[in-house]
This record gives sequence, C-alpha cells and structure tokens, in this order.
Amino acid sequence: MNKTLIKDALIITLDYNQPDYFYGDILVCEDTIEKITNHPEEIDKKRADQVIDGSNLMIMPGLVNTHGHAAMSILRGYADDLPLKKWLETKIWPIEAMLESDDVYWGAMLSIAEMIKGGTTTFTDMYYYMDRVAEASAESGIRAVLSRGMLGLDFDLEKEFEDTETLINDWHGAKNGRIKVMLGPHSAYVGGSDFLGRVYDLASETGLPIQVHLAETRDEVDGCRSEQGCSSTAMLSKIGILDFKVVAAHCVHLSDDDIDILADKKVGVSHNPGSNLKLGSGIAPIKRLLDRGIKVGLGTDGAASNNNLDMIEEMRLAALISKGATMDPTVVNAKTALLMAAPMGADILGLEETGILKPGYKADIIGLRRNRLHLTPLHDPLAHLVYASAAADVSLVMVDGRLLLEDGALKTLDEEKIRAEASHRAERLVNAGKDNK
Ligand SMILES: [Zn+2]
Repeated sequence: MNKTLIKDALIITLDYNQPDYFYGDILVCEDTIEKITNHPEEIDKKRADQVIDGSNLMIMPGLVNTHGHAAMSILRGYADDLPLKKWLETKIWPIEAMLESDDVYWGAMLSIAEMIKGGTTTFTDMYYYMDRVAEASAESGIRAVLSRGMLGLDFDLEKEFEDTETLINDWHGAKNGRIKVMLGPHSAYVGGSDFLGRVYDLASETGLPIQVHLAETRDEVDGCRSEQGCSSTAMLSKIGILDFKVVAAHCVHLSDDDIDILADKKVGVSHNPGSNLKLGSGIAPIKRLLDRGIKVGLGTDGAASNNNLDMIEEMRLAALISKGATMDPTVVNAKTALLMAAPMGADILGLEETGILKPGYKADIIGLRRNRLHLTPLHDPLAHLVYASAAADVSLVMVDGRLLLEDGALKTLDEEKIRAEASHRAERLVNAGKDNK
C-alpha cells in the first residue's frame, strides 16, 4: 500500500465538522485520505513511502470546475467582445465545423494542463469527440465528468445519441471511477421538445445525471416565452428533464417561479461568473439561489469566452460580483466562495467522497505556497484563498492519491509539447477559416 504524508501544513478541510483551518498532517493511502490530524505524533512517519514538506503550504480540497468546453481553449482569444449569439454564429460555430478529433484532443490537453496548474482536480466537459477528451483525462490523471454535447438538430441527431451511448459504455466509471459520464443536451432552445423527450428516455434508461445550459441570456428566456409560452426552466420541468439529477449551467435570468422550480426539483446550478460577464449575459442571482437552499458550484465555461480556466479567479469573481449586484458586502463571503468551488461543486456533479478533506474521502488535494508578498501577513487563510491568491501560487496537486503537480511542475504531462501542438493546430484552423471567407 503506497502511503504519502503531507506534514506541517496549514490545512483547510472545508468539512463542516472541522475548524475553518488548523496546522497538521495528512496521510494518504493509495487513492484515499487515511488520516488528518493536528497531533502529528499520532502518525508514524516511518509508515510513509513519501513525505511532502507542507510547512510553506495552504492545503485544501482540489477545485471542482462544474462547467466547460475544454477543447475550446484552442480558440482562446480568437473572438472577443461580441454578444453570445453573434459570437457563436459568426465566429465559433464556423471554426468548430472544421475541428478534427486531434484538435479536440490537444485543445483538451491544453485545458487540462492549465487547470491542473491552477489547482483544479475535477473538470466537467460538454463537447464532441468526447472519447478523445476521455483519453486526455485518462492520461493526465485529472478527475473528469464528461458529456457528449447534443444540440438535438436533425442533421446530427442519431450520431449524437450513438456517440453518447459509446461514451457511456467505454468510459463511465473508468480509471478507478475517476472518469464519469453525464448526458449533455445543449439547452432548451436549440433542439426542441421531441429531442428533449428522447434525452428523458435515455436518462430513465441509464440513470445518468444531465448537464444543460439554462437561462444564460435574456434572449434565450424571451425567445422561449414567445415560442413555447413559458420560460426555458419551466419548459425543461414540463418535459420531465428536471426530475433527474441535473446541473444547470449559468442560470442568469430566472423569475421567482423559475427559482421555485429549481429549488423544488433540487437542480444544481453551475455559476460561471467570468463567462457571463465577458459575454455581457448578466449576473446570476446567487444570493437568492443559496437562500432557497439551491446548491451552486462554480465553472469557467470554455476558454474562448473567459479567457482562462482559473478557478481561483472564478471564486473571487463570484464573491465580488454578488456583493456588487446586491450592494451587500456580506453576500458570498470567502467561505461560501470556497464551498462553491469544491464541496458544493462535487455535490452537484454527484461525486461521492470528494470536495472536502476527510478520512475515507478521495485524495484530491491541492497546496498553495504561502510565503508570497501578496499573501503576507496571514490573518485569515480563507480570505487569502479567495481575495488574494493566484493560480500561480498552486504548487501541489494530487488526484486520486497520485501527484500531478509537484513544486509547480506537471508530473504527468509534457507542457512544451502541449503548447506547441495546440498553437500550431489553432493557427491552422484560423487560417482555414480565413480561406473559407
Ligand atoms: Zn457552456
């Protein structure tokens, strides 16, 4: 049994039953946390195969990115400062139509490497060529929740369902349960109710959870009201989609009735503050959702609308924009932002035994350096993590008990090769896009 000891660290467990932080040791056995203690004499150091000096680290649960499109990092900085509809129709979709499976693989690799270096231990993806994203996830060691994105349009409908079923058969539960599959209907507004009915049938058959974009823009909600006579939230509810475990990404434009539905159906919300701000979509009513007991995780969305995959930045944005929008600085405090970034995120994705540091839980652990100018002095580690830390402070990342980042260096991935492959593929796509005009 392989054992790793992280010793003399400042530990933030995010476990309700523990103090907010304390100094101590963590013993990891294989993929699981065996012991956490502030009485180091309780752990026999000789039992550890590997000892990590944590005296300069803030140790916390790995961050859980609950919404994204990893391969879109290949389009980072290609189309900016546009509203969602124009951004998709004139820039993103034409390039995406030319993507090959290797582009998706290297785009996903680029994202995974960036996410690991920024302390993300679980990511969620909705895209196509998802078997290649699963491969990249398997090779890198990151925890992944993957969906074959399904638009539900006639020309590709059968292939979308076929790919989804293949993905489930090949990858759900693979790699010691590190890779999971969800169903990924894009939204209430693209595919229509017959398509969503078929998604309902597949969810009934497989028992798998669903992720979907919901109430992202005012246009989406107004369009649904004029065409269907109800909001997109009410439409999903009517079809029965919300009777399953669902993660709804964005949830910016919600009426009181919509919030009632989300609370009643126990829908998990993925809050993507950076993407919503950048696309001018608006600010999600997070305080109202949390007050109703709705669980909210954080997500980056794709890098083409963010433009990075930095979950520490999303924590900070989530806290700041809710305070600004409500004109109340007590709203989304540091601890709430941290809970959204790890345990609540893990919870809405249905990941058991991840999201907090606790014996018996998965060893998904990150460490941030704390001997930094911008983290000095250290009055409150939770406030530092949300309001002062940066992705570059992350120096240690462990997923499922395996070290993926040590002293800030990737252990399972070749960073230079990933940068080179992603750059030349992005260049080829954008040049091909110009030639097609
Ligand atoms: Zn999205």
